[in-house]
Amino acid sequence: MFIVDAHVHIYPPEFESNRDSIATGEPWFDKLTKSKVHRWVSAEDLIASMDKNNIACSYATSFAFHDQGLCRIANDYVLNAAKQYPNRIKALTVVSPNRPGACEEIARCAEEGAIGVGEIFPEGQNFDITNTSETWRLVSSCLEHNLFLMFHTAEQVGHQYSGKGNVGAKEAAKFCLNHSDIKVIFSHFGAGLWAFEAMPEMKLILSNAYYDTAAMPWLYNEKILDAIFAIGAGHKILFGSDWPILDFSKYKKLLDLTRLDTEQKSMLLKENVSTL
Ligand SMILES: [Zn+2]
Repeated sequence: MFIVDAHVHIYPPEFESNRDSIATGEPWFDKLTKSKVHRWVSAEDLIASMDKNNIACSYATSFAFHDQGLCRIANDYVLNAAKQYPNRIKALTVVSPNRPGACEEIARCAEEGAIGVGEIFPEGQNFDITNTSETWRLVSSCLEHNLFLMFHTAEQVGHQYSGKGNVGAKEAAKFCLNHSDIKVIFSHFGAGLWAFEAMPEMKLILSNAYYDTAAMPWLYNEKILDAIFAIGAGHKILFGSDWPILDFSKYKKLLDLTRLDTEQKSMLLKENVSTL
């Protein structure tokens, strides 16, 4: 099956060699790269893993820094990877939304072939997605260049882990209320926001929202996927692995346990993402 993985991370080699000096000004980068599950991976490693797992195309990003200069270095690496492996890697780029230069960087990346902006990390980047005075520039730049947005969100219940952050379903819903015109992916099942697609007024407010499966094997059992389809949001869920911290095989095992039919699996693994 032609599979699209809508959420992977790759890193330029200088992030590894300069880890300690970068980490002094970027506490979230420090936390994440120190965590046991972190792995430094290149575009070549990504292609090898995709070949092994029968993945046709990946949407790759790097790390959303607070510093705009570091975002730029991350973007250069990802954009270059997408040029090197056209059709296999598509570039998602990062900006520090509240720092000077964010709109210019979005324009530059769009010109260089980026298809979206993300995975924006609201807490780590001091960015309030509920506040229109902070979000309007980011949203209008993305709209101007026909890019979708991807935000890191996480369920505000359950166990803690590094990089979880404090942005959940409530904040994501507020963003959609403020901005109905931009297609937005809320990572990690939108922190549970998909469940509110069963409320008529929320279904309307969330009409531009998508959700991805990133980190599913650590967070949920397979029934969440059955539930998303049962609630009528099956056309909005995208397969995203969060590779390299998790591999496709872990998702495959869960997918096999679901009640999804072939058509629904195909929506999840490749078709829904094409509507972005
Ligand atoms: Zn994330």
